[in-house]
Amino acid sequence: ARSDVHYFGAGPAPLPTNVLEEAAKVLLNYKDKGIGICEISHRSADANEILANTKTSLAKLLDIPDDYEILFLQSGGSGEFSAVVYNLVSIWVEKRRVKAAEQELGSSGSVKSWGDAVFKRLQKEVAEELKLDYLVTGSWSLKASQEAARLVGAEHVNVAVDSRKANDGKFGVIPPESEWTPSKKAAFAYFCDNETVDGVEFPAFPKSLEGEDAPLVVADMSSNFISRKVDVSKYAVIFGGAQKNIGNTGITIVILRKSLLPPASAAADPELLRALGLPVGPIVLDWPTIAKNNSLYNTLPIFDVWIAGQVMSGLESTYGVKKISGQEEVSNDKAAMIYGVLDKYPEVYRVVPHKSARSRMNICFRVGGGDAEKEKAFLTGAEKVGLLGLKGHRSVGGIRASKDNAVSLDGAKKLVAYLEGYAKAV
Ligand code: PMP
Repeated sequence: ARSDVHYFGAGPAPLPTNVLEEAAKVLLNYKDKGIGICEISHRSADANEILANTKTSLAKLLDIPDDYEILFLQSGGSGEFSAVVYNLVSIWVEKRRVKAAEQELGSSGSVKSWGDAVFKRLQKEVAEELKLDYLVTGSWSLKASQEAARLVGAEHVNVAVDSRKANDGKFGVIPPESEWTPSKKAAFAYFCDNETVDGVEFPAFPKSLEGEDAPLVVADMSSNFISRKVDVSKYAVIFGGAQKNIGNTGITIVILRKSLLPPASAAADPELLRALGLPVGPIVLDWPTIAKNNSLYNTLPIFDVWIAGQVMSGLESTYGVKKISGQEEVSNDKAAMIYGVLDKYPEVYRVVPHKSARSRMNICFRVGGGDAEKEKAFLTGAEKVGLLGLKGHRSVGGIRASKDNAVSLDGAKKLVAYLEGYAKAV
């Protein structure tokens, strides 16, 4: 039964049992209307209420400033790898076009009026200056950088740091910022706040991405969303799939600085992008379109938004005025307990990432020096006592204990007890 096990899968990850129990009810009969939540129109008053409540909860929990917009999309985290490039490159081009038109023609002109002189200048600027900076610290930021290269060409992607170079070809560290090689005027700087596969998390917001000259900062928080306090105002864009900390698979949340939306920032004319050899994104990934339609440009899975809203309002009522700092404390405690026992038995366990970059969410370690048989036995023993989902990502192997928000303190304690017992027995 559900109450007999603790699940440590990285995502989809556990959801609070009370939310699932309530979900089972509303699937059949929402608000006693006789129809289920998956059957109501996404444009109904009920759906609008769910959407508004979920947004409000998220804004409260994370103290999201008023000049930020919250969007719900269906792209998955991976879809946003592409959306980031489409949207921010398009904004970069339009800004450059306006400036070029002012200088070449003496007026910013309409979007359509790019003329020969402006076009030639833009072509040159794209070739020489369009740079997207990626901090590659694990498998997901690597994938995001590869998607950027696929869309705009590798020549426009600057890998400002590849942490494997500082760690024998493997992820597991975050090199000091003094070693990063940022572009002079990057269209944006991208990082993955928590690398789910490699167990690497940024301990804090990078200093070099702060201040007036800093580029637009984009962060993938898919696997540590609402698990710690975040100064949203430092980011242009934060995104994450819901299926780890927030809800079930199906929606992706984007928190976006409003100045990136019209009228402050316009997207470039698709014809101009095409003429410049730059990609034009699908409409369902177009943030301005999604924002203009209150995330209802097309059919939004309202049930998924409802689940996220329930999880968030649960956190609100659990932690009250502490807001997300309350969850952060619990997260830190659970991580400290588990790393504590792993460090206590260095002859049995080896934590994969460097101490300074250890993730609070995904604890990656090896058992018995990475011996396949020993790790298999470790996992079998864990399953016997109801500790599930501990197998590491298929690309790296080993053991991974993901302790997303809904993994209870009790679950973490049971894992600690198993780790102790296993270490003493070998
Ligand atoms: N980013 C991170 C940090 C992830 O952990 C994942 C999924 N595990 C993704 C992006 C991709 O998300 P999706 O599967 O929703 O595309």
